[in-house]
Amino acid sequence: MNIAKKVPHKIILPEDKIPQQWYNLRADMTTKPAPMLNPATGEPATVADISPVFCEALAKQELDDTTPYFDIPDEVRDFLAIYRPSPLVRAYELEKALGTPAKIYFKYEGNNTSGSHKLNSAAAQVYYAKQQGLTSLTTETGAGQWGTALSMASAHFGIDLEVYMVKVSYEQKPFRKAVMQTFGAGITASPSDTTSVGRTILAERPGTGGSLGCAISEAVEKAMGTENCRYVLGSVLNQVLLHQSIIGLEAKAAFELIDEYPDIIVGCTGGGSNLGGLIAPFMRDKIQGKHNPTFIAMEPASCPSMTRGRFAYDFCDTGRITPMAKMYTLGCGFIPAPNHAGGLRYHGMSPIISQLYHDGLLDEARGVVQTDVFEAATLFARCETILPAPESAHAIRGAIDEALRCKETGEAKTILFGLTGTGYFDMNAYQSYHNGTMKDYVPTDEELAAGFASLPQLTTSA
Ligand SMILES: *Cc1c(COP(=O)(O)O)cnc(C)c1O
Repeated sequence: MNIAKKVPHKIILPEDKIPQQWYNLRADMTTKPAPMLNPATGEPATVADISPVFCEALAKQELDDTTPYFDIPDEVRDFLAIYRPSPLVRAYELEKALGTPAKIYFKYEGNNTSGSHKLNSAAAQVYYAKQQGLTSLTTETGAGQWGTALSMASAHFGIDLEVYMVKVSYEQKPFRKAVMQTFGAGITASPSDTTSVGRTILAERPGTGGSLGCAISEAVEKAMGTENCRYVLGSVLNQVLLHQSIIGLEAKAAFELIDEYPDIIVGCTGGGSNLGGLIAPFMRDKIQGKHNPTFIAMEPASCPSMTRGRFAYDFCDTGRITPMAKMYTLGCGFIPAPNHAGGLRYHGMSPIISQLYHDGLLDEARGVVQTDVFEAATLFARCETILPAPESAHAIRGAIDEALRCKETGEAKTILFGLTGTGYFDMNAYQSYHNGTMKDYVPTDEELAAGFASLPQLTTSA
């Protein structure tokens, strides 16, 4: 193979190149994401409306679609510097195994105990909560990475944390619990009888394994009923994409070091935060006409919010107590099949990602079944020696498919994908893939229709 310019496997920015500021892509979007609505009034939510739920600095970040840059507070930057900058890695071995002329790079976010990019936003959210003098936080976690990340940040900044963990994960991932306990968090399986929302859901569906939407409802209810407590969410929200912009900013700076620019950028999408963070500065280039990369979002075929969802106002939670956001959604009542192993189980999608997709700036969304995802994960692990999270493996699948397309056409494109984390707590899923018991599940149109029926009816046709 003729590699004109051999670059190192790992490109790591000098430490003083950790970004000083987060980048707010909304400031440069010509069509802004639709405003969050207060469900009580149907009017755009104000900082005052959402301040009972989010702490004030975060409420402001949430609603600000004009300020392009926000300074990263020194205390947050010091914490990020423990595990950042994260490496941009050239996947030479994977390229070789595929026999592709494409160059494949990944930005690796798994180098911390939470095993994912979620720590980037956890650090910021806990810091602002502490600044405001709050004494405790609640949250939900699905696969467990967000709960772990938040436990780590809470331990660092000194604040109490209660995690509502989706029941299937709680049962399948006992070691995740132990990790969170190590960092001092309390953990409750959701749905639970500790909230009225949880009790209602349990009464309606006694055997349910829970869902992210339901865990969110419980965590919000708990936060609103506890003094000096707020709720924090690890994805979907505009503020989370803002904090995750550090991924894209670092990736772009690393590409500048080697004088390259990606042609194709692939990410997996649960609530859209890693993809939103990864693409942010590259999307700015596209909006401003400086570069024209292709953006691809990879999602599970079993929870297909972008590929088969509706672009509509919906609640962010099953209990219908959060503000409403306009997004691609399967309906807040959608609960994904319990046999789906790989995370990314959320019913909706970040309003920023949704708007970009709706406007054709985010070029494509693809749904993939989990056996294809684990096939990609296994090949990647053998080539690159990193055991990827199943979520991340959706992006690997997309990158491999693009590299194989390059092999057919002979084009030497530069592909970048987000390797969001490691899969050490997902070994049950790997095991079921290897022993052939993993099942693919694609919901029928009828099943999706039941979710769509749960969409709120708005009087205005937004
Ligand atoms: C949570 C998570 C995701 C998906 O969340 P996004 O908000 O869509 O980024 C992807 N990969 C890993 C490893 C995760 O923990």
